[in-house]
Amino acid sequence: MSFNLAERLANHQTKNLYRSRSLVESPQNPSIKVNGKNYLAFSSNDYLGLANHPEVVAALQQGAKDWGVGGGASHLVLGHSEPHQQLELALAKFTGRERALVFSSGYLANLAVITALVGKGDTLLHDRLNHASLLDAGILSGVRFSRYLHKNMASLAKRLHSSQERSAQGNTLIVTDGVFSMDGDLAPLPELAALAQANSSWLMVDDAHGFGVLGNTGGGLVEHYALSQADVPVLVGTLGKAFGTAGAFVAGSEELIETLIQFARPYIYTTSSPPAIACATLASLKILEEEHWRREHLQVLIQQFREGSQALGLKLTNSPTPIQPIIIGDSAETMATANKLSEKGILVGAIRPPTVPQGRARLRITLTAAHSHAQVEALLEALAKCGLKTCDNEGCDE
Ligand code: PMP
Repeated sequence: MSFNLAERLANHQTKNLYRSRSLVESPQNPSIKVNGKNYLAFSSNDYLGLANHPEVVAALQQGAKDWGVGGGASHLVLGHSEPHQQLELALAKFTGRERALVFSSGYLANLAVITALVGKGDTLLHDRLNHASLLDAGILSGVRFSRYLHKNMASLAKRLHSSQERSAQGNTLIVTDGVFSMDGDLAPLPELAALAQANSSWLMVDDAHGFGVLGNTGGGLVEHYALSQADVPVLVGTLGKAFGTAGAFVAGSEELIETLIQFARPYIYTTSSPPAIACATLASLKILEEEHWRREHLQVLIQQFREGSQALGLKLTNSPTPIQPIIIGDSAETMATANKLSEKGILVGAIRPPTVPQGRARLRITLTAAHSHAQVEALLEALAKCGLKTCDNEGCDE
């Protein structure tokens, strides 16, 4: 018997779920060269336009001169360099937490936290639209987990009570995306924190898409809602999005970070990220703290896009963030619309199941501070010419 990969791939294609990679031939900017053609792109998570910032690039170059390229070893075996340490101190200060711990990706950070905090005998409660890395972490940890309806506190409360009935001894961790990655809407953190505290549980927030973007100083959704470390004991942020570099961090109490260093296998058994990345991220953090205009400009573009699409009769999600999906529903139709836009020189993400639920395929439009008003206008003009039919939010939900 052999693996029938050809049949598996053909099935995937028949279901319109086949994905292919485009070849990007220029740096990440709104104007981008892909597969030999120039486009205007609305698909990047470089929300503040820092991925190409000259000071960030210079810090990376200087970091490589000073520290070489490779991290050399895992953090516990002489791979923890001074730039990693400086970045951890700076992120702890910026987030107002006792300590922070840097990882080479958000995917790994989520695996690390969840596998170190919960296991057999514990309970993990997920928002139904949480990111795949959080779901995968639950599976890897062996914890009993269940998914509550999206942002639905009654659904969460029901699960909290039944988990308490089942096990008086185990710990319960509630985990949520801060900004939902495919919908752009916000998790109701104050309500989640109150429910967690009332039920002796912990709340973990993965603010991959809010950190750097939301809050007056870019502190993310936790700052937006003025919450403390007691409200959100476990905070995850990523650095490959608003920070424009790579990696992620976990911020929280001294005990939390020490627990991760001692017990989190996805932290212990991997090579540290290149120290020069930490140098670049420190430069991004400085810009993010000083250049408030980037967040302000982004908010104005979000408003421009939402008003313009509403004028076109397009239905949008309840998103105050740079993630502005247009839900079409059918996967083939979503691909066809994305292709029509690309023929007009505009690239947007086309997202299909399993990344989003069945019947909820969508164009995932993302705005960044590097876009101009004229570019958002060009996007709206192209959308107007596509004959778009958006999904009735009620009608095409599962
Ligand atoms: N969490 C969320 C909510 C994400 O959207 C992503 C990536 N898109 C991650 C975690 C993973 O982060 P990274 O890309 O740094 O692995």
